[in-house]
Amino acid sequence: MKRVIYPGTFDPVTFGHLDIAKRASKLFDEVIFVVAVNPAKTSFFTTEERVDLIKAVAIDIPNIEVTSTKNLIADFAHEVSAIALIRGLRHVSDFEYEFQMAMMNYHLNPEVSTILLIPDEKYIHLNSTVIKDIVRLNGDVSDYVPALVLDAIRRKQNS
Ligand code: ADP
Repeated sequence: MKRVIYPGTFDPVTFGHLDIAKRASKLFDEVIFVVAVNPAKTSFFTTEERVDLIKAVAIDIPNIEVTSTKNLIADFAHEVSAIALIRGLRHVSDFEYEFQMAMMNYHLNPEVSTILLIPDEKYIHLNSTVIKDIVRLNGDVSDYVPALVLDAIRRKQNS
């Protein structure tokens, strides 16, 4: 049973995140989306909202679980017996940060490999912050986030 985790902020989940998760789901037996709780970072959606949105949009991927953690990702990986953590790599500019995180995670838990996956080129320029900004200005992001996520952003921005 090869289980991996896919940690991130997912504020909110986009088609870019789902592209990575689907690729991982074909390579491994189980993929756990983990919303990493970072009290130092102000998020737009609460942890529960982010988990619920991922659950709703990943429902058609059979071997995906969704949860959150307040712990170190390296410790969480150990708790759930994951063999690797998945991260997405868009530009070369992501590389430096991901490399640094991978080195730190090897220090914290040498047993858990870091696997960097590249998304479809449609999603290379995509991140959650840009999506929220475009929705605020009534731009069309329907190619980048599921309709359910788009509705949730609109509702939250108008509340
Ligand atoms: P974090 O704050 O942990 O970087 P994100 O939610 O922004 O959290 O991203 C989680 C992971 O998904 C990261 O590895 C990030 O590089 C990757 N990712 C984010 N957006 C995309 C995208 N459009 N395509 C592929 N991977 C992505």
